[in-house]
Amino acid sequence: MILPISCFGSPILRAKTKNVSFDQSTKDLIHNMWETMYNANGVGLAAPQVNKDLRLFIIDTSSFQDDNDFPNHIPLKEVFINPIIKKEEGERWEFNEGCLSIPDIREYVKRKSVIHIDFYDENFKLKSKKYTGINARVIQHEYDHLNGVLFIDKISVLKKRMINRKLKDITKGKFNTSYKIRLFK
Ligand code: ZN
Repeated sequence: MILPISCFGSPILRAKTKNVSFDQSTKDLIHNMWETMYNANGVGLAAPQVNKDLRLFIIDTSSFQDDNDFPNHIPLKEVFINPIIKKEEGERWEFNEGCLSIPDIREYVKRKSVIHIDFYDENFKLKSKKYTGINARVIQHEYDHLNGVLFIDKISVLKKRMINRKLKDITKGKFNTSYKIRLFK
């Protein structure tokens, strides 16, 4: 089932999230999140974006395979349940990020290039992994969602001022998307 996506201004995007228990409702939610993410042409989706205050996100970076900017890219499709980033390291690099919850806005964000993360996968198996490049980037973006953090929180005051009007329009529902959204008013 395709779920409506909560957009900027929705309190759920700033809410505290809880650890997920391993039951059928979690499996159903993951199934629906895949459907919702692919329907919106996203590369990642976190539970708060579908109005759930849970520590869970999914990513599929296979669309970067044909991107000349990432010639050594290894596609990653994975479910991250109750994740904990243990360490971030390496050089900070800039990438033009977007977010399904903040339509029509893209901004350059600096993040470290390597992460070490512990999480449970879709079979609730504990994994401890290291990711680099665009895989690490997408994980960092989605992980931030679990802490109520959005990529626009990481840009300069000046850049934020430049997109303020657009952000206000999003909170008022004045925008177009090809996917279903949840109006919070
Ligand atoms: Zn996002």
